[in-house]
Amino acid sequence: MDEKALPFVSENKKPRKTRKIKIGSLTIGGDSPIAVQSMTATRTVDLEATGKQIRILEDAGADIIRIAVDSKDDVEALIKLRQDSNAVFSVDLQENYRLAPLVAPYVQKIRYNPGHLFHLDKDKTIREKVEFIVNAARENQCAIRIGVNCGSIDPDYKAKYVDDPLAGMVQCAVDHCAMLDEMGFEDYCVSLKDSDSSKVIEANRHFAEQRPDVPLHLGVTEAGLPPEGIIKTRIAFEQLIPSGIGDTIRVSLTVPDDDKGDEISVGREILKDIEAGRFRSVPENFLEGLNIIACPSCSRVENGKFVDLAQDVRRMTAFAEKYKITIAVMGCRVNGPGETDDADLGLWCGPAHVNLKKGTETLGAFGYDEILDQLKKALDCLIEEKYGAVSPG
Ligand code: SF4
Repeated sequence: MDEKALPFVSENKKPRKTRKIKIGSLTIGGDSPIAVQSMTATRTVDLEATGKQIRILEDAGADIIRIAVDSKDDVEALIKLRQDSNAVFSVDLQENYRLAPLVAPYVQKIRYNPGHLFHLDKDKTIREKVEFIVNAARENQCAIRIGVNCGSIDPDYKAKYVDDPLAGMVQCAVDHCAMLDEMGFEDYCVSLKDSDSSKVIEANRHFAEQRPDVPLHLGVTEAGLPPEGIIKTRIAFEQLIPSGIGDTIRVSLTVPDDDKGDEISVGREILKDIEAGRFRSVPENFLEGLNIIACPSCSRVENGKFVDLAQDVRRMTAFAEKYKITIAVMGCRVNGPGETDDADLGLWCGPAHVNLKKGTETLGAFGYDEILDQLKKALDCLIEEKYGAVSPG
């Protein structure tokens, strides 16, 4: 069987009932093969590096390649990258929804994050901004992904669902689906991502109960470094896909740029195992101790030392593996400040400094050569505070 096109059929498992949508030449949803995708981690304007990464992902067999676009320079770069590749491109509009009509002629899918629409044009309603994106997609036969993320929930939903942010994420996705339905736009899918596998499972199950017709893009965001990042992702996919939930997947790993193809090969391996009924048992105490989450990096990373830093953090904190503490390492200022809020200790990287946080409180900004020492001090204090024990490291 062609490993690129694994249909999900098994006597013991539930079939997927979502509707089919077209993303350029690709179809996802229903009984279509589960598509495997990834995202470039280079700065989009760096044509050489981004072109190389697109080739790496194409060679690895990516069904969809996502590229972040935040500025007009990124749009120009995307147009040039398009000339050298026939891959199915998805564009990630984070805060700048206005770029939708400029990129739509060159891509097959537009991802918008409902939690980032409030930034620009505060005089316009969210609905008006969604309609703007939908019109650009419709005129250029693009699909849309409504990509909801735990670290950037729409402030209105965050305020309304203060005690249950997961319910807020699901409701936000359901409401955006209703908006697109009312606009007569059908070629859309949804994602609900969190760095915690159990929350990804819960959010996607709740969404699928309410909208069983809408194709789902699955992923554990900031899963982090292999092997833990792979295990966290596998846990979520093993719980969801056999119950008929999941039409396209992305494995997010913090790996060097040249290894980004691993996100595709790992994704296919997980699908292949699920298809064959090979489920990996997860040790009972997995994630009971130290949990390091790290973003997979993307074009917004402002200092290339980020991946090395994530690896150094894991090495340096190995002494604390028995303590139930979460440390988040994020690559940029766009999502870093929000996505470190829920961690016990958080690091988000700027061009010359790394910001260190304890929960929502900022402890300071430190040079790349100082941050590990500062993190060690903060970790020792936290262990003492939480467990009354001085760490042995
Ligand atoms: S935190 Fe920033 S650098 Fe990391 S994946 Fe998210 S947007 Fe990209």
